[in-house]
Amino acid sequence: MSDERQDRTRSTTRGRATLRSADVDLVVIGAGIAGLAATKTARAEGLSVALIEASDRVGGRAHTDTDTLGLPFDRGCHWLHNARHNPFRALADRWGFVYRKAAIERRTHLGDRWATAAEERARERFEDEASARIDAVGAAGLDVPASEPLAALRERASPWEPVFTRFFTAVMGAPPERCSSLDFYNYEDGGDYPVRDGFGTLVARYAEGVDVSLETPARALDWSGAGVVVDTLRGRITARAAIVTVPTSVLAAGVIRFTPQLPAWKLAAIDGLPMGHTNKIALKFDRDVLGEDFGVPENAALELRPGAPQVPGFELRPFGRALAIAHVAGSLAQELERAGPLAMVSFARDQLRIAFGSKVQERLVAHATTAWSSAPWTLGAFSTAAPGRAAAREEYARPLAERLFFAGDAASVDAFGSAHGALESGITAARAAIDRVRLL
Ligand SMILES: Cc1cc2nc3c(=O)[nH]c(=O)nc-3n(C[C@H](O)[C@H](O)[C@H](O)COP(=O)(O)OP(=O)(O)OC[C@H]3O[C@@H](n4cnc5c(N)ncnc54)[C@H](O)[C@@H]3O)c2cc1C
Repeated sequence: MSDERQDRTRSTTRGRATLRSADVDLVVIGAGIAGLAATKTARAEGLSVALIEASDRVGGRAHTDTDTLGLPFDRGCHWLHNARHNPFRALADRWGFVYRKAAIERRTHLGDRWATAAEERARERFEDEASARIDAVGAAGLDVPASEPLAALRERASPWEPVFTRFFTAVMGAPPERCSSLDFYNYEDGGDYPVRDGFGTLVARYAEGVDVSLETPARALDWSGAGVVVDTLRGRITARAAIVTVPTSVLAAGVIRFTPQLPAWKLAAIDGLPMGHTNKIALKFDRDVLGEDFGVPENAALELRPGAPQVPGFELRPFGRALAIAHVAGSLAQELERAGPLAMVSFARDQLRIAFGSKVQERLVAHATTAWSSAPWTLGAFSTAAPGRAAAREEYARPLAERLFFAGDAASVDAFGSAHGALESGITAARAAIDRVRLL
């Protein structure tokens, strides 16, 4: 089953439809999850859709790499977040994908020993209280830096505060002082289930049969007339409406030239939703050293207190594989990415040694690293709402002139930064575009 899925991923990502100049009902820019969802929804309703993608594969930030390590490695999304209500879970069930339905077991290492059960409970209590304080402020409608409600906690000088900050930064892509309390509160939690063959593989299955023009970056979008005109490197597309699904940082960088320029309120929304930073460093061992020699359970998570928050969190033995995957976030992710893959690997290896000693380092045989912040069509990991800017998500999602629609993880209020948020926003944008096109 696993191999069959890997082949499917390859054939989907290599499939290519040549773009001719086209005149269609709808043009969708970006073949990540949001763009795929929008395209499938609109085509199912009979619209002619041109789906264009800048890179040489579909999926965007959903990408399972099976080549580098010879094992599925999710370079982007990995967990079915809010698994109780995640539409990808129903798709996984329908297509026979295996996922793990258990809470992630997090263990903390204190530098010279593992935390006791009582200490782990103290960490959990601290983290619960910190999250509850941010939520309480958000529930009251206050949109302040998420660090503000934590001020009183900080006075306690708890040893768990840096661990919480690391975890928060990994989840949000930015530290509490750069995130909106209201945005944090708006996110709907509900279980995190990893997909055995890779979330990217599940998305590749979702993309099967979807006609897409790869290596076709949109350079300009003219919405001054009755419809839209999109100029790409491979030709011009005229359409009645467009759905833009590219990440906010790509829009902020001016990769697509809009005529007329986007209005100030839309630019402000884009500005309020910068992409946060998260990267992964996967370390592969020649045997299951963490399980065999250290009794680490499958799919465990390791927190390191010394050095936190500027340390990675580790995912250990995903589905029993001989792997440790370091997750670095925020400024640490940016610095390491700038330093390059070897520096990333060396950093992760040294951090792992703190918990397991040099024996683990000796068993290392391969590695893989991500570089999402410099990936030209992504420029970050997922959207974060800056303090005071939680409402920017709804503004970002609001259409322009009834012919320019926006979707993607940034457009989701309660599932931003997530695969299912991107999916739902793509469907929502497509429905609005379908209604509009039918009126014309
Ligand atoms: C390291 C990491 C870990 C993550 N972990 C999880 C997780 O465990 N669970 C979860 O639910 N989510 C996770 N996410 C987030 C999730 O992957 C994203 O929210 C989701 O995939 C975003 O989909 P999208 O369609 O909005 O954007 P994207 O996937 O970014 O798609 C946008 C597409 O637009 C294309 N594009 C850009 N510019 C142009 C252009 N000019 N012309 C044409 N095409 C263009 C891009 O190449 C890309 O394919 C993670 C993300 C990262 C980076």
